[in-house]
Amino acid sequence: MNVTKRRAIFERLRAANPKPTTELVYRTPFELLIAVVLSAQATDVSVNKATATLYKVANTPKKLLALGEANLKEHIRRIGLYQTKARNIIALCRLLLEKHGGEVPAEREALEALPGVGRKTANVVLNTAFGQPTIAVDTHIFRVANRTGLAPGKTVLEVEQKLLKTTPDEFKHDAHHWLILHGRYVCKARNPDCPHCPIRDLCDRKLAPADQNGTSAKTAHPRTTRAIPVKTGSSKPHQNKTGGAT
Ligand code: SF4
Repeated sequence: MNVTKRRAIFERLRAANPKPTTELVYRTPFELLIAVVLSAQATDVSVNKATATLYKVANTPKKLLALGEANLKEHIRRIGLYQTKARNIIALCRLLLEKHGGEVPAEREALEALPGVGRKTANVVLNTAFGQPTIAVDTHIFRVANRTGLAPGKTVLEVEQKLLKTTPDEFKHDAHHWLILHGRYVCKARNPDCPHCPIRDLCDRKLAPADQNGTSAKTAHPRTTRAIPVKTGSSKPHQNKTGGAT
């Protein structure tokens, strides 16, 4: 894909949503970190429901440690993998207190050393809590990057590195949220809404003529009607059902 098309894609996504952000509810870097850890293979909606009650009683490492693993499990038991997540969160809180004075570090290496925190989670926290131009590739971004031709790749790490290399600087910080929201609501895994897609004329996938005009109710888009499996090629990547954690 050439630079002009790439730029045009981000300009349109920006025009539609000038200030994109995560759908996870949080007030502090710590609340965001815990929400992102919880969002692995869970919807943002389910995480927001759990944290709405959890954060009323415990929203700092110290308070979560005091709450204890058993009580934490009660708050998050409707979220997938909650047992492992509860164990990781308690260990994560302990480490934050021991090594970082209870604060969330703003460095990738320190973040990835925390239990339950992989490259994707670290990218989300660095981007959303600390304003760094990282691009966390989840299942949605992986799919959109491959379908559109923005950054074709076989692994999440390959896609992330291509996006970082080719995305113009002015779009880099928000690219993560634009692409994730586009994948979640328009370029969906099973039924991409090509007829109403704002970047359909820029997408590398070949569309049927009716779709290019936005007049077809159904897309004749056979290669985009199934999810593209994510091959994880980074250190500890994970994917969410909704691309949550963003
Ligand atoms: S035209 Fe279709 S495949 Fe391309 S980005 Fe839009 S929804 Fe996705």
